[in-house]
Amino acid sequence: MSFNIHLIFDKENENIQQNFVPKMDIDITEINEILPENLLRKELPLPNIPEIEIIRHFIKLSNRTYGVDTGIYPLGSCTMKYNPKVNETIVKLPGFANIHPLQEENQGCLELLYHISKLLGEITGMDGFTLQPAAGAHGELAGLLIVKKFFESKGIKKRKIIVPDSAHGTNPASAKMAGFSIIELKSNEFGEVPLDELEFAMQEGDVAGIMLTNPNTLGVFDKQIKEITRIVHENEGLCYYDGANLNPMLGICRPRDMGFDIVHLNLHKTFSTPHGGGGPGSGPIGVVNELIPFLPKPCLISTKKGLICKNDDDKSIGRIRAFWGNFGVIIRAYAYILALGAEGLKRVGQIAVLNANYLRILLQQNYFLPYNRICQHEFVLSDQGLPNDVSTEDIAKRILDYGIYAPTIYFPLIVPGALMIEPTETEPKSSLDYFVEVMNKIFEEAKKNPELLKNAPHNTPVKRLDAVLAARKPILHD
Ligand SMILES: *Cc1c(COP(=O)(O)O)cnc(C)c1O
Repeated sequence: MSFNIHLIFDKENENIQQNFVPKMDIDITEINEILPENLLRKELPLPNIPEIEIIRHFIKLSNRTYGVDTGIYPLGSCTMKYNPKVNETIVKLPGFANIHPLQEENQGCLELLYHISKLLGEITGMDGFTLQPAAGAHGELAGLLIVKKFFESKGIKKRKIIVPDSAHGTNPASAKMAGFSIIELKSNEFGEVPLDELEFAMQEGDVAGIMLTNPNTLGVFDKQIKEITRIVHENEGLCYYDGANLNPMLGICRPRDMGFDIVHLNLHKTFSTPHGGGGPGSGPIGVVNELIPFLPKPCLISTKKGLICKNDDDKSIGRIRAFWGNFGVIIRAYAYILALGAEGLKRVGQIAVLNANYLRILLQQNYFLPYNRICQHEFVLSDQGLPNDVSTEDIAKRILDYGIYAPTIYFPLIVPGALMIEPTETEPKSSLDYFVEVMNKIFEEAKKNPELLKNAPHNTPVKRLDAVLAARKPILHD
């Protein structure tokens, strides 16, 4: 049978048209009057394609899409964990999905925002939260504007921020956007912050503080963290925690207890929302009591009459995003936290660490592991010493041929030819084992048939792209 979708647009077949397409609520003759003649089409050649062909076309395209629902997604620093499907049902409940953001009197939604702020406070140890920032980097910017305003309010000029070289690129970028200049600290041989150099840098005088990820992008937990935050505080600085790597810390160690004053969380990473390709995200920031007046406004206050929006703090850095942030991501995070509870969240962290160390031990048999110590949720290999000059890029491309996604490559910058691997807690042992099997096969290929790797991928719809040409002569539009 060939069901013809053209039918539904067939003017002569009024009944069918009415069944499929809602009646137009405008008068088509009016359009003819409003639009100039030259913009009006005489003919509209709609496609005339049997349903089966359309279905096959779109199914074929959807099969090309790779996601965590398809297989392992070991993209380090991104925490591409499985996102429970029940969250999608919850986020579509009419009370959430059909609400207008200006319906501020909607106590149900405000309560959700209020309650998740409290839960995030418990998880991080912080006293106050804003849910406005739309991503981690946006949270960083908001946090640094708070740092700036805090010192300005005391009449102190501070122009610099310390960022270790193991930081995510967004850290120095956000600091710059907030008007600071950056002092880069070189990590020591353990991938940690060198205390003596930190002390020296802090004594420059106009240093506002430090931005730090712990565990850092090497997956290394800096055991001297209490010393680091003490040195910064003693020199009248503030400590900013980049919480993108909170996953392994959940229920085990709180940024506040490490000595931090401000923290951003990536709800879309740690607290499960499908992400990638630029969104959607949510990067709430939490602060200690002293910094609460500087949080973006409006903030929610609990009163006898219910929750109200407070808009009138003149110390606030102001609004940094419309309405209440990415509400959908916040709902998913809330559902995720409530479903797991305190014990469940702790287990998330533990299994994330276990999975990463399982891979670390098995993969270092063939691959060079520059910082060889127990890792947290991720670790970084290097292409150093691979046979026949095979590079990180060759490996990443060849992995695609085996039907799985590649790790993060060439980041962090302190490891040349980095392959940054983060399996997350939701990967079963069978898929970790398959990943190791693929990596070992690729190592054997590198020895025996390096050309296979250098021309990879072979099985994907798009083959190896000419990266040099793309960089030299980019075509940025059609
Ligand atoms: C992802 C990430 C960020 C930035 O967060 P976005 O939500 O992508 O803006 C910052 N720091 C680290 C360590 C990250 O992994």
